[in-house]
Amino acid sequence: MANTQQSTTASGPGPVEQFDAMVIGAGVAGLYQLYRLRELGLAVRCYEDGSDVGGTWYWNRYPGCRFDSESETYGYSWSKELLQEWDWKEHYSGQPENERYLNYVADKFDLRKDIQCNARVTSAVYDEQANRWDIQLESGQRARAQFLIAAVGLLSARYTPPFEGVESFQGESFHTSCWPKEKVDFTGKRVAVIGAGATAVQLIPEIAKEVGHLTVFQRTPNYCAPCRNSFVTPETQRQWKATYPEIHKRCRETTVGLMHEFDRRKTLEVPKEERLAFYEELWAQPGFTKWLSNFHDLMTNAEANEDFAEFVRNKIRARVKDPMVAEKLVPKDHPFGSKRIPLETNYYEAYNRDNVLLVDVREAPIERITPTGIKTTEKEYAFDVIIYATGFDAVTGALTRIDIRGAGGQTIKDKWANGPRNYLGLQTAGFPNFFMAINAAFCNYTVCAESIVEWITDCIRYVREQGLRRIAPTPEVEAAWMEYINKVAAGSIFTQAKSAWFMGTNIPGKPRAVLLNPLPAPAYRAKCAEAAAKGYEGFVLQ
Ligand SMILES: Cc1cc2nc3c(=O)[nH]c(=O)nc-3n(C[C@H](O)[C@H](O)[C@H](O)COP(=O)(O)OP(=O)(O)OC[C@H]3O[C@@H](n4cnc5c(N)ncnc54)[C@H](O)[C@@H]3O)c2cc1C
Repeated sequence: MANTQQSTTASGPGPVEQFDAMVIGAGVAGLYQLYRLRELGLAVRCYEDGSDVGGTWYWNRYPGCRFDSESETYGYSWSKELLQEWDWKEHYSGQPENERYLNYVADKFDLRKDIQCNARVTSAVYDEQANRWDIQLESGQRARAQFLIAAVGLLSARYTPPFEGVESFQGESFHTSCWPKEKVDFTGKRVAVIGAGATAVQLIPEIAKEVGHLTVFQRTPNYCAPCRNSFVTPETQRQWKATYPEIHKRCRETTVGLMHEFDRRKTLEVPKEERLAFYEELWAQPGFTKWLSNFHDLMTNAEANEDFAEFVRNKIRARVKDPMVAEKLVPKDHPFGSKRIPLETNYYEAYNRDNVLLVDVREAPIERITPTGIKTTEKEYAFDVIIYATGFDAVTGALTRIDIRGAGGQTIKDKWANGPRNYLGLQTAGFPNFFMAINAAFCNYTVCAESIVEWITDCIRYVREQGLRRIAPTPEVEAAWMEYINKVAAGSIFTQAKSAWFMGTNIPGKPRAVLLNPLPAPAYRAKCAEAAAKGYEGFVLQ
């Protein structure tokens, strides 16, 4: 298998392990990529920064963390045995169970023997002469392979705003995506949560019950919708197991890889009373139904969007007792769905508690973190714990944080200085044999990641079987793809929020760019399949 030898080409001393392919990241995508490449007969090594597998479900251990996809659609579809063996306990499964699931997968398919944990990749340099990728870990360890696959995740590079004084705080502080493995005891403590996105919305109702006092620092209120989670009955479990092929077929056909599909009617063509009854019906159902089974022009027509947005605003107002607090929680500056809709359980009720205070940082911005708490332009607050629920440098962050250098020494960071450039989201011109196994689309992650991993695997098989050495897209096809993606996105509500990780605008200074492929999942899959079927049209094969 792995061939460890002294390298003559990679710079620096020490042994350089040699593989056919290297995968960075052992989350949903990386684990499957490793499995598939091994199945091809390749010597593969997967490097993971965390101390174990699971990716998102390893790192995000904060109370309340769960996925918003339906459990039966989030699990892998590629092993019939696995589908029959695994029982999901909740309809919207929580982090501990998701982590157990991915560990179960790693054990069942004996993946661990090819995974190195506690292994942060800091650089990846393409050696044009040898046609090999040389990687280096934080520890100094090095390895090389013909193919490099970054399965580094779209929400994995955590972001903490550069507040002055962060280091000076003398209490405990946590970022939600780097949560300790041990239970954090909040009993009686004065706790701050900075952020009000999907993570904070899951966390706040959980810890509000436990803390002495909770202060939430909110920049942008979101349209949060009830999750309506419940336990899976044995009967439902049996039904899923009997119908997985149909479930997966449906998920491959829908716009976003979930069971939900938009209603073909146009919002404003439906009489008002009927429309409201439809909204109520959607609202009463679990999950993303109210978003993704809604009228299809919700995401393209501003007037249609506003109609539903106002319905949601009134739902929020009805749940928050203090009208002043309610108005702070009601989003008014962005269309419904232009930011990720958080699913919640008792989120708004948390603000009815005497021990919870909402601070609007648009009215009184945070000036600095002090040794004892947080100082806004209005006042100073004292805390025992500060929780940063401040999200991620999404999609591009995990890639640009690695020093990735392609042909001619060009870095990804420089190439993407004004936003990411790629073809089909899979490769970027000038970086041969470098693949991105990242589902950067608005799509149920596992469903779409599986097809991306399979495309990459087929491509590597093709290159090897044809006796070729490398593959990369042409700059021309890449430019045309980026233009196309931007044009499609321009017609959507997606691009309209002032601050959304979809567009990179949650981070000051990050270039505003379409980070999520806006194509419906089946259309995107068809484009990828078409390029492959035409002998990798648009790619330079050598
Ligand atoms: C709180 C939360 C809830 C979510 N809920 C949903 C949901 O309901 N539905 C849905 O479809 N998606 C959801 N997502 C998106 C989620 O990220 C994906 O579902 C999926 O887990 C991503 O898998 P991945 O393997 O691509 O990336 P990740 O799970 O992020 O794994 C990437 C791995 O790469 C590792 N890595 C990164 N850089 C390096 C490096 N330089 N060296 C070594 N290792 C590195 C990281 O440590 C990480 O473990 C959620 C995300 C979050 C954060």
